[in-house]
Amino acid sequence: MDSQQGEQAAAIAVGVLGFGGLGQAAARVLAPKSDMRLVAAADQQGYVYRPGGLDASACITTYQQQGSVGYLAPDGHLSQVSIQDLIHKGPDVQGYFLALPNLPNTFMASVARQFIEAGWQGVLVDALKRTSAMEQIWAMRDELAEAGITYLTGCGATPGLLTAAATIAAQSYQEIHSVKITFGVGIANWEAYRATIREDIAHMPGYDVDTAQGMTDAEVTTLLDKTQGVLTLENMEHADDLMLEWAGICDRDRVTVGGVVDTRNPKKPLSTNVQVTGRTFDGRISTHTFTLGDETSMAANVCGPAFGYLKAGIRLHQRGLHGLYTAAEVMPQFVR
Ligand code: NAD
Repeated sequence: MDSQQGEQAAAIAVGVLGFGGLGQAAARVLAPKSDMRLVAAADQQGYVYRPGGLDASACITTYQQQGSVGYLAPDGHLSQVSIQDLIHKGPDVQGYFLALPNLPNTFMASVARQFIEAGWQGVLVDALKRTSAMEQIWAMRDELAEAGITYLTGCGATPGLLTAAATIAAQSYQEIHSVKITFGVGIANWEAYRATIREDIAHMPGYDVDTAQGMTDAEVTTLLDKTQGVLTLENMEHADDLMLEWAGICDRDRVTVGGVVDTRNPKKPLSTNVQVTGRTFDGRISTHTFTLGDETSMAANVCGPAFGYLKAGIRLHQRGLHGLYTAAEVMPQFVR
């Protein structure tokens, strides 16, 4: 690879859509980087665009104190159609990390459609979780390619980092028997990641995406009170299965995802890991295990890969490779 030959010498102009838990962490991740410059951010109430670069701390303070980056003077704007406005206002943004809730389950696909309809060309990266939501993006792959958009889907932690690790681990085997992803997430309070927690609740028995979306904050708090703040999730509908099937690793029914989320303690309740079991060419059955360091937060393990894939996506885009890719078929690059 000609990675050092500098296909893009200037910092990549990046936007973050959604400025909640992950969006704010994304801004902090980018702040010390020289490869990328945060120039745009949007939330449900507004957006801010500054080609010269945004101050992450100012964006975060404004969002936390006033509820929207749209209040950030002098470049912020309040808008009920902030994504649409930002796409038109900032045509020079080269890539976006979509740190948006996928509520309803069709939301991310509708955002992708807005980019296509606006005639925007560049790189989009999501950290989408549900299989049925990723299938909607998959159905748009030809339109994305025709529009000149390079869209990388499933680029968070799971799906994302762990799916990619499973793809690499699988190479030792001739046949893959199972891929088992188990995640542990610890956060100090659920309000810092409302969409993540609602979408996790949607996997619990008796709930679905619509019921979870319809829950008030008070109802979520009441539910969490009943479980001492802990959500235990099994056999989740997670797109790691689809991504590994598309990558030719194994059938989707061999992939399982579950985990434990503690919403009252930043310490992880268990170590996040992926176990890949298979049979080697010489008949041995074995399991590779890749375990994330317990000190790494969900935000670190989602935002880091998301920007690594965004950087890889920029290279694909520059080479005319448009359309849909997943975290299991492209190697992320390291953002300096
Ligand atoms: P959050 O609830 O903290 O923040 C959501 C943000 O999106 C808010 O700033 C809100 O204003 C904004 N928003 C909502 N609707 C909008 C609209 N129409 N236009 C513009 N902005 C809008 O969310 P979060 O907890 O940071 O989670 C974001 C997403 O990341 C979720 O879908 C979650 O499932 C996903 N996630 C993925 C992984 C992974 O490993 N793949 C891990 C964690 C979270």
